[in-house]
Amino acid sequence: MAAVDVLRQTFGYEAFRGPQEEIIDHLVGGGDALVLMPTGGGKSLCYQIPALVRPGTGVVISPLIALMQDQVDALTALGVRAGFLNSTQDSEQRRATERALLAGELDLLYLAPERLKTESAVRLLDRAEISLFAIDEAHCVAQWGHDFRPDYLELSMLHERWPDVPRIALTATATEATRAEIATRLNLGDARQFVASFDRPNISYRIVQKNEPRRQLLELLRTEMPGQAGIVYCLSRASVEKIAGFLTAQGIPALPYHAGLDASVRAANQARFLREDGLVMVATIAFGMGIDKPDVRFVAHLDMPRSVEGYYQETGRAGRDGLPSVAWLAYGLNDVVQQRRMIDTSPGDETHRRRLAVHLDAMLALCETATCRRKQMLAYFGQASDHESCGNCDTCLTPPQVWDGTIAAQKFLSAVYRLDHERGQKFGAGHVIDILTGKRTPKVAEYRHDELTVFGVGEDLRDTEWRGVARQLLAQGLLGVYGDYGVLTLTPDSAAVLRRQRDNIMFRREPERVRARRPKLVSVTEDLSPEDTKLFERLREWRAGQARDQGVPAYVIFQDKTLREIASQRPADVHALACVNGVGQAKLEKYGPEILAVLTE
Ligand code: ADP
Ligand code: ZN
Repeated sequence: MAAVDVLRQTFGYEAFRGPQEEIIDHLVGGGDALVLMPTGGGKSLCYQIPALVRPGTGVVISPLIALMQDQVDALTALGVRAGFLNSTQDSEQRRATERALLAGELDLLYLAPERLKTESAVRLLDRAEISLFAIDEAHCVAQWGHDFRPDYLELSMLHERWPDVPRIALTATATEATRAEIATRLNLGDARQFVASFDRPNISYRIVQKNEPRRQLLELLRTEMPGQAGIVYCLSRASVEKIAGFLTAQGIPALPYHAGLDASVRAANQARFLREDGLVMVATIAFGMGIDKPDVRFVAHLDMPRSVEGYYQETGRAGRDGLPSVAWLAYGLNDVVQQRRMIDTSPGDETHRRRLAVHLDAMLALCETATCRRKQMLAYFGQASDHESCGNCDTCLTPPQVWDGTIAAQKFLSAVYRLDHERGQKFGAGHVIDILTGKRTPKVAEYRHDELTVFGVGEDLRDTEWRGVARQLLAQGLLGVYGDYGVLTLTPDSAAVLRRQRDNIMFRREPERVRARRPKLVSVTEDLSPEDTKLFERLREWRAGQARDQGVPAYVIFQDKTLREIASQRPADVHALACVNGVGQAKLEKYGPEILAVLTE
């Protein structure tokens, strides 16, 4: 069967997206490929369709053992013959899969990378007919990345052992360095590279000043995301627990996920998040890779990620289905202080620390930018964007005002300079601001800081504005921090400011003074009429029942996007239903009559 027919009949999609067709043709023709495509870009079809078109079984190497069952279930629901081999199975299940493989009864086989180390697995593959190797999450081979899996280094053996089988490596990690490392380590130097646009137009990026993070998060969830599924990322396990408890107490169903939890609790929480509608997962970055739940409507960060790469990957888990979604980050002075401190105290040599600092600086620049966030992020990944403003990030929707903060910077840094001179005494930002704004706090009195020349020279700005100054000085590297208590200190670049050799230091205005324009509400049913919305909800109820009965995630039955289309088109018969995106042959036969019954109810 031709690739496009498989796309239409099996997957129920009308047309290929972006570079999919080219990649599939290349692979069907026996070529190797290295594919960089953002999350939600449609990577899976790039190997699933060639595996169905070429004779034999497509072997998919994936580190995500806990998700293999779901992946296989999703394919089975489409009528694709799929299986997996990993350590979670008992020997009986394993033998059944092996038999099916050898009998040529599998279109796709998911395999954990460590399996390939066993001679028996290699001999098994030797006896099977293999159509291709797909190496999913290929960035796991990158030694510096936080997803590094040593077993991935062994995967270059695929080419040595089966030189005639085409290979495709796929990742959503965008940087040039990672791409080069994948090509080298997986012996894919000669593979054709396909790089899709990394823009995620349906994700609305928002970075807000962190004032009262819990209240801000709650407001986001209550006013814009009621009943929606999402992920809240926190830096530490302790804050994961606290925030999950807080949300639950507020009546928002939330689950915790971090590496400190028992493996069985983690697995159970992950399974619930995937299966049930409208759950919020509060997690450290241990959660998320390979989660292909398409209807994650928001990703909220309560702490700033350490790099733009991390931010992009984590936020990318929102809106795989292409529907409007929100990436929200609350960011404040403490994030900068904390992260600078973490770098200073991190193990590893100077080069390592410098690398971390470079990553942090890029992330800070993204937080503090007064221009389009999307444009800046894409530029970071080496992709130019056509427009000055995307119209779907906070800086485009509410352009921040900037002001010349040269004098404020001088005042702040001279206060830090004066305090630096009091040997042994360590003061944080709060105390500096008290001095600048002329507050006679007990600490000010104790150290007689009201006698400093800088005392009270900053009364023209409010506390929050001074915190903004401190944060932005830190972000711009004009101010430093050291030690365990966030002690402020001068940096080599501070001197030029103090000597008045630098002017035109620009700051963003703190938001209280900007009249915020509300970004539009995100809702899956946004452009549906009230009747269609009701129908959509009825279809979702029907789907929830199916998912429960079959023990599979709801999106394995149908995705929101498909249900939405059904609700608005109201197909009158199975022929019309077959034309809806996401309704393939197998699902049409299985669910067609029931869907039509819900529609006529
Ligand atoms: P990735 O693995 O790149 O994150 P997926 O393969 O999970 O992305 O695809 C993301 C979503 O897009 C899925 O819901 C998938 O069904 C859908 N999709 C992929 N290709 C197409 C296409 N050509 N037409 C319509 N939907 C598609
Ligand atoms: Zn923008």
